[in-house]
Amino acid sequence: MIESAKYIDVHAHVNFEEYDPDREEVLSRAKEAGVLMINVGTTLEASKQIVSLSEKYDGVYGIVGLHPTEVTPMNRFNTHDFEPLVAHQKTVAVGECGIDVYRLDPAENKEEYLRIQEEDFRAQIALAVKYDKPIMIHARESYGKILEILKDCFSVYGTKLRGNAHFFAGSIEEAQAFLDLGFTISFTGVITFAKQYEELVRFVPLNRMLSETDCPFVAPVPFRGRRNEPLYVTEVVKKIAEIKGLEFETVRIALLNNAISAFKLQ
Ligand SMILES: [Zn+2]
Repeated sequence: MIESAKYIDVHAHVNFEEYDPDREEVLSRAKEAGVLMINVGTTLEASKQIVSLSEKYDGVYGIVGLHPTEVTPMNRFNTHDFEPLVAHQKTVAVGECGIDVYRLDPAENKEEYLRIQEEDFRAQIALAVKYDKPIMIHARESYGKILEILKDCFSVYGTKLRGNAHFFAGSIEEAQAFLDLGFTISFTGVITFAKQYEELVRFVPLNRMLSETDCPFVAPVPFRGRRNEPLYVTEVVKKIAEIKGLEFETVRIALLNNAISAFKLQ
């Protein structure tokens, strides 16, 4: 359906149990509106589910990886387990990977958790580069650390290291640092109700921006507070056009094409 696509949600979790009662309908609503979607893995199990969803549905792609908040001494990123999922033809990136300081359990050994999160982030970067796929970055109170790791990896891999900073909530300077590394930046429905994102949305060039929902979380206005779904990415596109003062069609086409080229969708 890529030829007839109109929108894309580059970060969805339609594999989550929130969609168990009506997943088929959620997927067909998106398809009818021409919304492509990329479901993003958080665990090995979730990544397997995502690959099956991609295999089953047209216009549905997958990203596989281990979310930083899932990394524990007992649950580490295992390249051997993930490699066949990464190699899959409809897997378009590795992630979501990164560092999450915000959700670290105060009862845990913080230094140790940060150390293993970093190790697993680097392992996921290495696997993405090996398969010439980008990474989908999750960051929470960790942009400085992530940029430091990316710059270090960039010195080894060069432009083979590509990716997107998902649900971007950093500063203008941090956004610039991601752009300098060749990364794209994506925004969710949070921009429809949180004013503090306006400056960022104006700052990030349209040709370096991607649209996402992060569903089932952060439904945009007018669906705020309800379960989110990929169809609602249309509201994110509308808001980006409004903030940037551009024609809706210009923004819609740019966001679709940016994702098609960033993830080499076919
Ligand atoms: Zn996510």
